[in-house]
Amino acid sequence: MKEVILLKYGEIALKGLNKRTFEDILIRNIRRKLDGIGEFDITKAQSTIYIEPTNEDADIDAALLAMKKVFGISVVCKALSVEKDFDTICDQAVKYLADSLSAHDTFKVETKRSDKGFPMMSMEISRRLGGIILDNYPSIKVDVHNPELTVFIEVREVAAYIYADRIAGAGGMPVGSSGKALLLLSGGIDSPVAGYMMAKRGIRLSAIHFVSPPYTSMRAQEKVERLCEKMVDYCQGIEFILIHFTDIQEQIKRHCPEELFTIILRRMMMRVACKIAQEKDLLALITGESVAQVASQTLAAIACTDDVCDRPVFRPVVGMDKNEIVDISRKIDTYDISIEPYEDCCTVFTPRHPRTNPKLSYVMNAESKFDFEPLIDEAVKNAEYKFFG
Ligand code: ATP
Ligand code: MG
Repeated sequence: MKEVILLKYGEIALKGLNKRTFEDILIRNIRRKLDGIGEFDITKAQSTIYIEPTNEDADIDAALLAMKKVFGISVVCKALSVEKDFDTICDQAVKYLADSLSAHDTFKVETKRSDKGFPMMSMEISRRLGGIILDNYPSIKVDVHNPELTVFIEVREVAAYIYADRIAGAGGMPVGSSGKALLLLSGGIDSPVAGYMMAKRGIRLSAIHFVSPPYTSMRAQEKVERLCEKMVDYCQGIEFILIHFTDIQEQIKRHCPEELFTIILRRMMMRVACKIAQEKDLLALITGESVAQVASQTLAAIACTDDVCDRPVFRPVVGMDKNEIVDISRKIDTYDISIEPYEDCCTVFTPRHPRTNPKLSYVMNAESKFDFEPLIDEAVKNAEYKFFG
């Protein structure tokens, strides 16, 4: 008899012949998370993953918290694993769930019996255990339609499991099951959320960050690295790529019209990002842009930016209001870091009157006054790599 964690699959359960591949990636991600917490056995059966501590030191509550942040899991439960004997199940359920049973007014019992050799049917287990609970907790009543508390009993091959709390998991698909993409990560609120949203769909992230010292400080760069560390909770390991952008920004300032500084800067960022993505075999770019948020995020500006890209650019927060993005950033705990007031290279040499409706031909013509290609190659060559995970 011991406490274990049960994890229920999300969308993976709907997969066909390739389900196994997704399961393997999910279990690998779970194992990585648990490695830092303690020693656990991980097994799977019928769209459920079982996590059992293998020694006293393994902290099951820390493991439960970590599992809530693993994509690919829809439900997380802490359960008591007991011998498959009806009397034992009842005795233990009454004791193990004492706090919950005392704190609620109505309940029902729901039993799943995947071990068809077990001598009682699910309905009978539920009915008889329900009676025993009523005997032990006179103030609680049965409500099969809308109970405050549901007592779950699962009778499986190896043991029976008792639990009452089904916690929502992170949902989505296991990180690494949908390939790899390159997140343009600023220190702001939006891009960490954008990365989280794509990681949720199974994408493994690399994160590229542009700095322009001395216009941007070391503290701004460290802030972004702390964001990466935080994002690792959900996104698994993140390769971090730092790009020095000062030369490019200074040449934009010297050669291009002020009203186009930002749009040209963004095109340069994309050109560098695409080259890095090409080298590292990252199939898409991800940004935290949202239509109409700032001048460089009008439809015309986004079209000008995309013009230099040789691969898809995902903008998962494109249709969200700022407050909706903030809600997610609080949930994933990046908000407090994001609002620290450090400069970003996008705020260096900001035009007083940026073009909100730039014409591509006008932008291309302005850009052609200087050959940026060697500087772009130089920036790519001098990229610095780190790993967070
Ligand atoms: P965020 O809150 O993510 O900083 P934002 O609304 O401030 O976004 P911009 O500063 O215009 O918007 O940047 C738009 C997007 O460009 C960001 O979401 C991010 O993907 C990318 N970006 C901006 N600055 C940088 C940077 N220094 N390094 C890498 N990517 C950046
Ligand atoms: Mg920003």
